[in-house]
Amino acid sequence: MTKLQIDQAYIQRILPELLAIASPTGYTEDAIAYLEQELASLGITTVDQTRKGALVARIPGKSAATPHGITGHVDTLGAIVKEIDSDGRLVMSKLGSYAWNAVEGEGVTVICVHSDKRYRGTILPTRASVHVHGSAMASLDRTKASSFHVRLDEKVFSEFDVIDLGIQVGDIVAFDPRIEINTNGFIRSRHLDDKAGVAAMLAAAKAILDAELIMPHDIILHFSNYEEVGHGASAGFPADMTELISVDMAAVGAGQNSDEFSVGICVKDSGGPYHLGMRRKLVAIAEQHDIPYKLDIYPYYGSDGEAFWRAGGDVAVGLLGPGVDASHSYERTHLDSVVATADLLGQYMLTE
Ligand SMILES: [Zn+2]
Repeated sequence: MTKLQIDQAYIQRILPELLAIASPTGYTEDAIAYLEQELASLGITTVDQTRKGALVARIPGKSAATPHGITGHVDTLGAIVKEIDSDGRLVMSKLGSYAWNAVEGEGVTVICVHSDKRYRGTILPTRASVHVHGSAMASLDRTKASSFHVRLDEKVFSEFDVIDLGIQVGDIVAFDPRIEINTNGFIRSRHLDDKAGVAAMLAAAKAILDAELIMPHDIILHFSNYEEVGHGASAGFPADMTELISVDMAAVGAGQNSDEFSVGICVKDSGGPYHLGMRRKLVAIAEQHDIPYKLDIYPYYGSDGEAFWRAGGDVAVGLLGPGVDASHSYERTHLDSVVATADLLGQYMLTE
C-alpha cells in the first residue's frame, strides 16, 4: 500500500497565487496561463488548450489506452458591466449564480477587456448610507441587479467621465478574493470554489511525480473555464477516456453531511445521482488509505461531470472535492480538506 506525501507547503503557495488571479467566467486566460506554467514546473509538458480555452494535460501511465480524466474549473463568479448610469456608476450583470447581497460591500477591480486598464471600486446597494437613506435602506429589494452598482474610486460624475476612463459595457468586474490563511489551517477566500479543488489536483499530480510512481493508466488533467455557467467540461477529452472525476467543492451547511476537514464524495446533486461504480471505487480507496471522507447530497448544485454527460460523454463520472462553507458567498475551508482531496485524487490515479 503506497502512502502519498501531499506537499502542504506547495498547496499553501499555489492556492493563494491562483486565488489572486482574477478569473471570472469568460475572462480566464491569465489563470490558464498560470496553470500551464505550474504544470511545466512539475514536469508536465504534454499540455494543450482547447479552442474554448480549457487546459488539457496528459500524464503518462503504464497504458495509454483508456485514460482516466480529472477535471476542475478555474473560472469563478464575477460580473460584467451592463450599463453605465448617468451618475457614473456601473450597473452589473452576473457571471455565474449568486445572491447580490453575498457580494454587497465587496471591493472589485474593473478590467477593461480591450486595453487591460484596471480600476478599483466597490459593490454597493443604491441606498448605502444610513445617514442619507435612513429607514429606506431596509426596504431595498436586494434580489434585483438594479439595486446594486459599482462605485468607482475615480473622479467620475457622469457616464461620459467613465467612458473617458476607457470603461465600456462588457468590461469585467472581478471580486476581491480576500484571501486569509490562518496558521490553524482555516482558509478563507471568495473563490475556493473551485480553486481549492484545482490546487488539490496539482498537489496530487506532484505527489505522484515526486515519488516517481507508475500509474496504471494515462491521466488527463482537464482545467475547465466555463463551469459556473454550466457547460465547462462538456468538451476537451480524448474519445477513449473511460472514467471522469469532477473535482468540485462539497457543500457545507445546515442539513449537509460534508465538512471542512474531509473530502466530500457527492452521491447526488440537482442533476441526479453520480455513477455507482465510481462512488464505490472512491469510497473503497478512501477506506483503504484512511482518507477522511463524507458522502453527501448537494440539493442546489451542478457540476462539470454532468456537463460532460449532458454533452454525450459516455464515461463513468464521479464527483469529489474539498468541503466549502458558505459557498458562492465568503467561502471557507480547511487545509485538511484540500489535503484529503489531493490524497484521494492521488490514490485514484494509482488505481486500476
Ligand atoms: Zn465549482
